[in-house]
Amino acid sequence: MNFTEFDFKPAIVAAIKKSGYTTPTEIQQQAMPHLMQGLDLLGLAQTGTGKTAAFVLPTLQRLAGEAGKKVKALILTPTRELSEQVHENIQMLGQGTRLKSCTLYGGVSKAGQIQKLRQGVDIVVACPGRLLDHLNSKTVDLSSIEVLILDEADQMCDKGFLPDIRRILKQVPRQRQSMVFSATMPKEIRCFVEEILTNPVTVRVNHEKPTATIKHALFQVAQTQKTALLKHILQSEPMTTTLVFTRTKHKAKNLARQLQQFGFKATSLQGNLSQNQRKKAMDGFRTGTFNILVATDIAARGIDVSGISHVVNYDVPDTVETYTHRVGRTGRALQTGDAYTFATREDARMILSVERSLGQNITRKKVDAPLSNQDHNASTAAPSASTDEKRRGAPVSRRKTKGKPKQQRSNSFDFGLSAS
Ligand code: AMP
Repeated sequence: MNFTEFDFKPAIVAAIKKSGYTTPTEIQQQAMPHLMQGLDLLGLAQTGTGKTAAFVLPTLQRLAGEAGKKVKALILTPTRELSEQVHENIQMLGQGTRLKSCTLYGGVSKAGQIQKLRQGVDIVVACPGRLLDHLNSKTVDLSSIEVLILDEADQMCDKGFLPDIRRILKQVPRQRQSMVFSATMPKEIRCFVEEILTNPVTVRVNHEKPTATIKHALFQVAQTQKTALLKHILQSEPMTTTLVFTRTKHKAKNLARQLQQFGFKATSLQGNLSQNQRKKAMDGFRTGTFNILVATDIAARGIDVSGISHVVNYDVPDTVETYTHRVGRTGRALQTGDAYTFATREDARMILSVERSLGQNITRKKVDAPLSNQDHNASTAAPSASTDEKRRGAPVSRRKTKGKPKQQRSNSFDFGLSAS
């Protein structure tokens, strides 16, 4: 399935393209056709599945062309962080629609929020407590709401927000489209959900957990050290057949070339290859001419090679599902396999989502030997990678090590992922 099948308005199509989304995730494929028809929906899906865009895109589609001064969509979330995340997703996918959104949550001044509301917003993303505050002081009006969304309903229940939400619902029109998203459906919220939704469609994304025979390990590493780290691991461990995933075609091609220069039997599989080249790469990997295949997710679809000993996430995947798909290439049919993930500081949130989905913490690994960058040249990273890192603010450990000889740089850094 492709995003073009949804018949989104041109501004939304352009934003999807710009965001880099190519294929709808499973929850998007299941939920969006119903939501685009205006139906109520119960979505059983957790963070990392692409659930935010699953409700944001149909909402933008419905409201695009109606941008104005009245709040037409309300999204309730259990935490400020989630409110911000949803708001960012709306801004990214709604650019070009002229729809405005704002967040309302506690812990920050109300004045700024009131000013935004006065200027006119179409979509409010709020935590229940602060929204009630605004309703009590009549600084927000929910009488024009057409779309109501509860995100992470189970978390809201855990946090004791249900009475607040009931109060909020009294101020929202009954005639509306409603959606509830929740990772689980405990008894306490089942009746509550029935109160909110009318004849809902239920969709469920079952997280298929990777097989228990896979060992997961995480290396916390700066972007610029990834190739040196990969080289080190390939040299120091028996890795019979290794599948390496990169985010872009450019990186896949350059990384394979660099590994060849280091003396490894590596090749790449990426979208720029002709059918013939693709076949050659696949056959070579299958028969052992190459024991390392560097691929992008799209190119790797359908790879069915038995006996892959290692999967390396050179770049962290965008969704939990993709992680599951990638690492599922190893450890098949009760063979054991190792899944190594190279994570930078920016990947912390996705790693937590993956761990939540796995139901376990991923073992942190460190390389004690100094990583040599000598063979590593800038061409492996996408041309803009180092510039991007500078713009986002290079990790502290990197900034501190500036000027030191390359070999003495720290091989990893702790980006504060919980180990508990
Ligand atoms: P969520 O489950 O909504 O928190 O989304 C998890 C991550 O998946 C976010 O970084 C989204 O930007 C990303 N995402 C959502 N939809 C897609 C898609 N169709 N293709 C690639 N990434 C996506």
